Amino acid sequence: MNRLFCVIPCYNEQEVLPETSKRLQEKMETLIRKGKISEDSRVVFVNDGSKDNTWKMIQRLHEENPLFQGINLSKNMGHQNALLAGLLTAKDVCDAAISMDADLQDDINAIDEMVDKFLEGADVVYGVRSKRATDTFFKRFTAESYYKLVNALGAKTVYNHADFRLMSRRALLGLAEFGEVNLFLRGIVPMVGYNTEIVYYERAERFAGESKYPLKKMLSFAVEGITSLSTKPIKMITGLGIFIFFVSIAVLIYSLVRYFTGHTITGWTTTVISVWAIGGLMMISLGVIGEYVGKIYLETKNRPRFIIESYIADEQDEAVFKD
Ligand code: UDP
Ligand code: MG
Repeated sequence: MNRLFCVIPCYNEQEVLPETSKRLQEKMETLIRKGKISEDSRVVFVNDGSKDNTWKMIQRLHEENPLFQGINLSKNMGHQNALLAGLLTAKDVCDAAISMDADLQDDINAIDEMVDKFLEGADVVYGVRSKRATDTFFKRFTAESYYKLVNALGAKTVYNHADFRLMSRRALLGLAEFGEVNLFLRGIVPMVGYNTEIVYYERAERFAGESKYPLKKMLSFAVEGITSLSTKPIKMITGLGIFIFFVSIAVLIYSLVRYFTGHTITGWTTTVISVWAIGGLMMISLGVIGEYVGKIYLETKNRPRFIIESYIADEQDEAVFKD
């Protein structure tokens, strides 16, 4: 049978949980009624170290309806790790898992189409936003330039796809093989392969509460995406070095010609400019290399990506989860 799990990372989401759970319950019940998913399908909220009542609410939801389950992480591990915790937990008991945000920005109605594509044989169904009308111009511009940049650097990401997707069990098992600590899921999932499909949806505004991705976090996530998918920036440094080398030869020849024709270039301006320019470029280059060295350092430590404090689930599921 087709046991579906919806995995939802939650960090301080008490304002949206009542509405999200209500709409998900309706959606799951409809899908069950239509016979598309099995009756023991579940919604799993992953509490990512929330400081508000999120976990209490998840517990209450489970008490009211066994449709809802919960995973409680020992502290805030970040969106990607929380999502991974949910997916890796679900993979042993489900036939397919959908990941989505708690804030209702992902369109719950797109789930129907995702499930249909899964039933037709797709292993990964990407939710792709059809337009970015709800984003500010700044966000739209930076996001689109970023996708272009990442793809130009040779990584394969799905354009305008965030983390709203369905994955079959075998795709989840594939994902579990990737042991990287620096997680950028939307870059790894395409590497898993299998049959993929796309479902378009309109991204809504956050239902309530505030974004948990302030600009600073978003920037480091962006750097993460590039450095975990591509080593081209390092090669670009080599290219830059070669380019500067040729420029310096040209300048050298020019200066020698001036010197032998009696027009020696005087003053310290040129010297100072070149010293600072080269110094700056060297530091940028070191920074880029440092970014990768830091990644290697963290990867070799092989620290756990998440630590689970407790589960709330049906007895059989809990037994499997704890295994
Ligand atoms: N989230 C999380 N841990 C974090 C930050 C965010 O689990 O440290 C969850 C959050 O609860 C939400 C999803 O990740 O369900 C996406 O976060 P948000 O909506 O704040 O990001 P945005 O849509 O603004 O990029
Ligand atoms: Mg959001």
